[in-house]
Amino acid sequence: MSATSAGAAASWWLADALADEGRVPPAPALAGVARADIAIVGGGFVGLWTALALRARRPDLSVALIERDICGAGTSGKNAGKVHGYWTSLPRLARLLGADAAWEMARLGSRAQDALRSFAAGCGRDIWWREGGGLKVSAAPAQDTAIDAAARAMSTLGAERYARRLSRHEVRDICRSPSLREGIFYAEEATVHPARLARALRAAALDAGVALHETTPMRRLVVDNGTCHIEVPDGSLTAGRVVLASNVHQIGQLATLDAGLSRRFMAFSSYALMTQPVPERLEAIGWTSPVSIVDARSFLHYSRRTPDGRLLMGTGSGPIARGGQVEAAAMTRDAASLARCERGIGRLFPALAGVPVAARWGGALDVSSDRFPVAGSCAGGRVAYGFGFSGHGVNPSWIIGQCLASLALGQKDEFTRSPFCTRALPGLPPEPARYLGGCAIRRAILACEEAEEDERRAPALARAVAALPSLFNLTIGTR
Ligand SMILES: Cc1cc2nc3c(=O)[nH]c(=O)nc-3n(C[C@H](O)[C@H](O)[C@H](O)COP(=O)(O)OP(=O)(O)OC[C@H]3O[C@@H](n4cnc5c(N)ncnc54)[C@H](O)[C@@H]3O)c2cc1C
Repeated sequence: MSATSAGAAASWWLADALADEGRVPPAPALAGVARADIAIVGGGFVGLWTALALRARRPDLSVALIERDICGAGTSGKNAGKVHGYWTSLPRLARLLGADAAWEMARLGSRAQDALRSFAAGCGRDIWWREGGGLKVSAAPAQDTAIDAAARAMSTLGAERYARRLSRHEVRDICRSPSLREGIFYAEEATVHPARLARALRAAALDAGVALHETTPMRRLVVDNGTCHIEVPDGSLTAGRVVLASNVHQIGQLATLDAGLSRRFMAFSSYALMTQPVPERLEAIGWTSPVSIVDARSFLHYSRRTPDGRLLMGTGSGPIARGGQVEAAAMTRDAASLARCERGIGRLFPALAGVPVAARWGGALDVSSDRFPVAGSCAGGRVAYGFGFSGHGVNPSWIIGQCLASLALGQKDEFTRSPFCTRALPGLPPEPARYLGGCAIRRAILACEEAEEDERRAPALARAVAALPSLFNLTIGTR
């Protein structure tokens, strides 16, 4: 089989990464009966970082990784490649878990940033790692309050050095657009070519001695007498421990192992488009540095430029998966979400409206009930899981990879003691209330944010429904 995949067809990044590495064939599918000390399911960032951590910490243990497609074909090869830890969410973390836990998580995010930087420098490939910082900016008068509140909260927490308040004039030094108002600059942020990163991690895992099997979907996982059996189409893999790193696809699997977990997360979707190279148009608005730009909506527009002068524009406003149906067309082919990406260009950067588009795609997001990732174990500690990146996983997947390696090895350390492993996730309403309520709230928030962008007052009903999650003290769906 050639190195093509559904993911390659859908994401500009993966197609580019595969072309760049020169048609590397997939690793052989698993056929027959195999054994490993630890088996990992899923070859995205999480599975690959976990595999590397396991081999680095315990070279005496055998590690096998199965991937249903090719490594990087999931969301790891589809995202915007904005890389940052938790300074942007420090105030929300502090409200949720207290200041100490918030700082601990943010410092682990900085550790992850260091690990990514050093991997980029040492992996022997150009994965387009660029450190330019990230700008969160108000793009409508109604968004000014979010910028003010974030700046005030960072100052209350004594974290101003991680988030510099920028005047409208200073924002213009980054990008000249009549839509952009005041902002906050997060210096730690970087950008990367996400699919090249995933493929470089794959190469590193092979070099580290991981037994990799691509085009090998797990059909069933059975834990029996302390041993884990993974069924695949042409054989099976037996292991002492299993790490589930299959992102939204572990929802169903986890529900069978631990029913309580199915109330802890949902699948949303995010959409992006990549333009043709337009370096002269970006230069004309002064956007020459690798700073990425997001607006201050809760269903935010995210954007960045690439080293070859393309613009990526995305929106986190895609549909919700009904009852965990993560393969539904709404997760990858929602015309309304793609239209919002296109409108986002005209809205944030009017001078770029109508630039030719090279590719459009969407992907499912694993959203946890507090919108931060979590790692844990079930089946008597035999199965470790990590999920809940909630649209922010490039940097945190390193942290969760370390947590999963520690859980699989039974190690108690700074990762397993961190809030990523120890905090309790709130429960979400049961289905179908979760899906129906989620859809109503999503529609209401979109209506409010679109009205605010046009400087109109949103309909009263939309405002009332959008306020419900805060009233009920939920952390998901809040504005
Ligand atoms: C459009 C979009 C934009 C985003 N932008 C950003 C961003 O700019 N910055 C950021 O930090 N995050 C972003 N994210 C989120 C980020 O991409 C994810 O959080 C991250 O890639 C998750 O990595 P993962 O390894 O958990 O998932 P994945 O990369 O999806 O890996 C899971 C793998 O498991 C495999 N798999 C599934 N089921 C099975 C099975 N039964 N057997 C074997 N293998 C299986 C899949 O094929 C897949 O390769 C974005 C997401 C999307 C969709």
